[in-house]
Amino acid sequence: RTVATVVSGNKVSKLVRERLKKDVEEMRVQFPGFRPGLVVLQVGDRADSNLYISMKLKAAAEIGINATHVRLPTTATEDEVLRCIVTANENPEVHGLIVQLPLDSVNPMDPEKVANTVAPEKDVDGLTSINAGKLSRGNLGDCFIPCTASGCMELIRQTGTSVAGKNAVVIGRSKIVGGPVYDMLLWNHATVTSCHSKTTDLAAQVGRADILVIGAGRAGLVKGEWLKEGAAVIDCGINHITDKSKASGVRVVGDVHYPSAQQRAGFITSVPGGVGPMTVAMLMENTVQSAKHFLKTYRQR
Ligand code: NDP
Repeated sequence: RTVATVVSGNKVSKLVRERLKKDVEEMRVQFPGFRPGLVVLQVGDRADSNLYISMKLKAAAEIGINATHVRLPTTATEDEVLRCIVTANENPEVHGLIVQLPLDSVNPMDPEKVANTVAPEKDVDGLTSINAGKLSRGNLGDCFIPCTASGCMELIRQTGTSVAGKNAVVIGRSKIVGGPVYDMLLWNHATVTSCHSKTTDLAAQVGRADILVIGAGRAGLVKGEWLKEGAAVIDCGINHITDKSKASGVRVVGDVHYPSAQQRAGFITSVPGGVGPMTVAMLMENTVQSAKHFLKTYRQR
């Protein structure tokens, strides 16, 4: 048999970003001077967050989105964070607002409270209870979907695999990855199984999957031998493992044991170059959608 077709997040995300760039240009013809606005709020100075934010700012600049990086120090209090969010909520030039997670503060913070202070109509990460609730009820046209989850769906769409009626398995049930991926697959009419750290026979569950999405954060958790022949495998994992052959001494791998999975899957995403770039592209998509909605609501002409 032939090896799996690689679904390239690099390629697909580039197409999405090019389309968004055109959308923004059209908006600016219709509404001169207008630019979609995105605020990225960061608390603290984690190296991984700095990297992710720089990728988001770069993508935004290329598309024509006016992105602002607001930084608060690790000494910021919860009150200061909430006030910063409210300021962005009230600013009509801001159409998207995200709080980079995890919050890196020496003070106690309630992440749930922070997430829910973001105005739902600017919540382009889809992390408020309002947007998550709408998604879980299948109200897909009226909510922001977390970017990694919509990125996974976009990659599945690219494979040409139809979702309706398929057996889908999702490993992980977090708010940003596994949970919303489950909802998306369900409301696209797959029969979905959710697996997590208490699942007893992961290999048996995985073996039933026509579509498998993994967001566990465990390097090489899923073995190629577990897979159903021809399955579409979408790997969200980002794990740093030691690799002495690299100058840096580390290498990034996913949650799937790629060499063995490639021998059995029909479609597979790589890490890096798979879901990661899609997450950034879908954040841009949500921001442009939010700006369009803003124009439709407030700037009729
Ligand atoms: P979390 O740690 O919040 O969630 C991990 C989930 O995996 C939990 O539901 C956990 O189960 C489950 N899990 C952990 N170990 C196992 C196991 N051995 N067997 C089965 N299930 C297991 O992580 P996130 O959801 O935030 O992220 C998941 C991965 O995706 C990480 O590698 C992260 O770096 C990556 N990621 C990638 C993004 C991208 O853009 N590509 C964006 C965001 C995250 P339980 O609920 O029982 O604890």
